[in-house]
Amino acid sequence: MIIPIRLKLSNAYLIAGDRPVLVDTGSPGETNKIAQALAQAGVALPDLALIVHTHGHGDHAGSTRELQQRSGAPVAIHPADGELLRLGRKAPLTPTRFTGRVMRPLVNMPFAGVEADLWLEDGQSLAAYGVPGRVIHTPGHTAGSISLLLDNGQAIIGDLLMGGMMGGAFRPTRPGYHYFANDLTQVQQSIHHLLSYNPTRLYVGHGGPLPPDAVRQFMAIQSPVLSYG
Ligand SMILES: [Zn+2]
Ligand SMILES: [Zn+2]
Repeated sequence: MIIPIRLKLSNAYLIAGDRPVLVDTGSPGETNKIAQALAQAGVALPDLALIVHTHGHGDHAGSTRELQQRSGAPVAIHPADGELLRLGRKAPLTPTRFTGRVMRPLVNMPFAGVEADLWLEDGQSLAAYGVPGRVIHTPGHTAGSISLLLDNGQAIIGDLLMGGMMGGAFRPTRPGYHYFANDLTQVQQSIHHLLSYNPTRLYVGHGGPLPPDAVRQFMAIQSPVLSYG
């Protein structure tokens, strides 16, 4: 159902539902790589029903404009990240730990901006686009970060968490916070919110996928007093 597309810095995903939907578009210049991965799954670019963004950073929306032009698919994002997508650059980044300061130049890349065709809101069903699932607003990494929760329990959660170290090169199924967060407390609340739906598998923007139990253990150590109200 969810087919990972491993790119240079990040993961994009193909949801092979009734109609194919692409989630995230990698960094600038990755259109052909994504098109090849889709072709291996029997999907041509014009087949895409929708291009969804987990959020508006350049390593997840970098090839959106080119993919939109070549597929004709509508582009969707949460309204709070609409400006990031439109302007094609990041808002100021707040590192969550030292590695973030080292990694910042690598992920803070400008990209070709795009006007969204469709705004994603919390609870919104994507059934009309062939996806048996819905949008969960999981802000914190950015204000408009979302997760996609499929009816089968699988979830694509963008940069809400990441797997392993060095973009998932080491221990990719070990949960950790992303190097950057607009609001780390909000990230923690969003993780608890997402876990309250009892997802079965978490597909992240870097590394992964993550077993939800490993995330629960991680959160118990990170924030024992925090619970989602
Ligand atoms: Zn990000
Ligand atoms: Zn990312």
